[in-house]
Formats: sequence, C-alpha cells, structure tokens
Amino acid sequence: MDLNTIRSVRQPRERHELTLAPGEDFLGGGSWLFSEPQLGLTGLVDLTSLGWPPIEVDDDVLRIAATCTFTELAAVEARAGWRAHPLLRQCCTALLGSFKVWNTATVGGNICLALPAGPMTSLASALDATAVIWTPDGGERRSPVLDLVVDVQTTSLERGELLRSIEIPIERMRSATAYRKIALSALGRSGTVVIARLDADGTFAATVSGGTTRPVQVRFDAVPEASALAAAIEQIDCWYDDLHGAPDWRRAMSVLLAEECRVELLAGSTAASAATHSEDPR
Ligand SMILES: Cc1cc2nc3c(=O)[nH]c(=O)nc-3n(C[C@H](O)[C@H](O)[C@H](O)COP(=O)(O)OP(=O)(O)OC[C@H]3O[C@@H](n4cnc5c(N)ncnc54)[C@H](O)[C@@H]3O)c2cc1C
Repeated sequence: MDLNTIRSVRQPRERHELTLAPGEDFLGGGSWLFSEPQLGLTGLVDLTSLGWPPIEVDDDVLRIAATCTFTELAAVEARAGWRAHPLLRQCCTALLGSFKVWNTATVGGNICLALPAGPMTSLASALDATAVIWTPDGGERRSPVLDLVVDVQTTSLERGELLRSIEIPIERMRSATAYRKIALSALGRSGTVVIARLDADGTFAATVSGGTTRPVQVRFDAVPEASALAAAIEQIDCWYDDLHGAPDWRRAMSVLLAEECRVELLAGSTAASAATHSEDPR
C-alpha cells in the first residue's frame, strides 16, 4: 500500500548517514512496513542502498547481513560438515509468502519486527546467533538474538539502533538439527516452531518460538529423557494467545514436537555412533 505520510526516502551509502531524524525509521525490504498504515512515520532510511554482502563465511562465523533476503538465505550452499545447513531453508519456508515476498523480506527486518512467528528469530535463536548492533553514537554492541526479541513486536533495540548482521558460530552449523512446525491450517501462520540441536560435545538444546511471545531455549548437557524434556517445555511461561492458536494447544504441540525432534536426533546420533564402531579396525 502507499504510505501517504512519508515525505522522504533516504538512500545512505555510509554509516554516518544512518542517524535517524525525528519521524524516520529504517526500511529493510518493506514487506511489513508497506503492508499497513504507518501513521507516525514521515521518512524512511533505505538500508538496501548500503550494499552489504548478504552472506560472508570465515573460519568462525557465518555472517548474515540484516539486508540478506529470504531468497538469498535459502540459496546459501552447504559447506563440508554443515549438518545444520537444511535449517536455513526450512526456516525460510516457515514464512508462507510468494517469491515476491521472499525476494524483498530481509533477515534483519524479520527479527526487528519481532512477530512471534518470525522464522529468522527461530533460526538465529536455535543456532545461538549473535546480533551485531550499530549504535547511534557510532559504536557497536552485541547481543544473543535469543535476548534481542523480548516480547510481541518488542525488541531490546533502542531508538536509532540498527541491526547490522547476525553471526552464527560455524561450530553451530556443524550441529545436527531437527525442525518441526505446526499450524492450525495448511497455509496458516506458525502455531509453534521447535528446533532442536545436538552439538558435537553432546549438548542438546531445544528452542521454541512461534508458540511463545519470545524465543525460549531449554538446554541439557546430553540428550535428555523424554520426561525431562517435556517438563522443561511445560515450564515455559510465555505461551502466545491469538487466532492462530490457544496457549494450551501451543504448549501441548511444543511438547509433542520437541519429543519428535529428540527422537530424531537420538536416532541420528545412535546411527553415527554405530557407523563409527563398525569402522573401528580393532
Ligand atoms: C504474505 C506475507 C506473509 C508473511 N508471513 C510472515 C510470517 O510468517 N512471519 C513473520 O514474522 N512475518 C511475516 N510477514 C511479515 C514480513 O513480510 C516479514 O516479517 C519480513 O521478514 C519483514 O522483513 P522486511 O525486510 O520486509 O522488513 P520491513 O517491513 O522493511 O521492516 C520491518 C520493521 O523492522 C525495522 N527494521 C528493518 N530492518 C532493520 C534493521 N536492520 N535494523 C533495525 N530495524 C530494522 C523497520 O523499521 C520496521 O519497523 C509476512 C508478510 C507477507 C506479505
């Protein structure tokens, strides 16, 4: 839709041009900003003009620019040992938009919008991603994405702070992952999303989002018993309530899906361990 309160759209090239004037806000892909009236807004600062590389990989992190689109993220090629690679596309598919939405919606816009069913929040939280935040004084601060989204459409970002990128540790890209999502209808918004992870050191983490007002992660030193995992999920205290699912249903589904993830990861680790032993020449 047209935003008829907007009087200026700035296209910065340098960081010093990112200071927000009164009435301005950042524009990612605009797939949400242009979907409803923004009565308080008089100006937009278009982040796509900064030309940030969408994806960078070094020895330690997979760096995803805030301006990386869903299409670009879903196309990231797997590298050797990246067992978590399928999760990139799986999380993109949790946003049921057409290719037009995928081509414009950005990772940063999705996280900063902070809808419970924000699939980039799910992905980043599940893989212990760090948010790199540019502060208006020219500095930088870092925060786990898990702590950045604090409530429905609420983040810990202060006015003028910009999400520059998220960094996923390469070690987490090597973790085995299991993904489950459920919705009340075939093309409905996520009722709950559960992503479980099994790290090389045996740590098990299950992250619940969509069904909760903010992402929540439960962690164990090893794959837990079913009852321990269920108890941890049941203790979550921020179940979301809207027309896409009642809190008790979201809780029950999260327990069920977490158990499915647990069984999947356990089966994978048992098979991997059996294969290692059968290769043992002793
Ligand atoms: C058909 C359809 C289906 C959708 N389904 C979902 C869904 O399932 N889940 C979901 O979460 N959303 C959904 N959306 C909403 C929206 O498209 C997505 O959340 C999208 O990822 C938002 O990204 P964007 O880049 O377009 O954000 P924008 O619309 O550009 O911005 C969103 C908000 O984030 C702020 N912002 C953007 N980038 C930054 C940054 N780098 N730093 C600080 N602030 C920033 C903006 O100021 C604005 O307040 C859907 C939209 C459509 C049209």
